Amino acid sequence: MPTGIYTRIKKRGGWKLSKKTKIKMSIAKRKAYPKYAWKKGHLPWNKDLKGYKSGGSHYNWKGGITPLVYQIRNSFKTRQWRSDIFQRDDYTCQICGLKGVYLEVDHYPKLFSEIFKDNKIKSLEEALRCEEFWNLNGGRTLCKECHNLTKGYKGKK
Ligand SMILES: [Zn+2]
Repeated sequence: MPTGIYTRIKKRGGWKLSKKTKIKMSIAKRKAYPKYAWKKGHLPWNKDLKGYKSGGSHYNWKGGITPLVYQIRNSFKTRQWRSDIFQRDDYTCQICGLKGVYLEVDHYPKLFSEIFKDNKIKSLEEALRCEEFWNLNGGRTLCKECHNLTKGYKGKK
């Protein structure tokens, strides 16, 4: 049984800590503990909440096309499509031939955004119905590095 708290209460003459004080103390304690202390200066309290209620990640966000892209990318069908392509390519990067690394699926030869525009997709339903999106010939397996390189060349094509 921890005795610390009782000793402290004794010292305070039996005065019990209010809930508020306890919370305050616990926060102060956390700040003081190295485990919770930030190594490179203090980060804002909302560090982990960054992005929350901002831009595309917020559920109520209606503007822009980004949320739709997110929705499509996070859809079950996209996951299915990706894993189908991974399997077809035997989990091997189609540019450098690396296996067993972090792999991504690249929309190729047509860019995701091009398919998007060409089919005038305005909703998740339209995207799900769009055959071009889910054509296995419209994607290839790439490792992260190669994928990043192709992204860099987008504007130069
Ligand atoms: Zn690669």
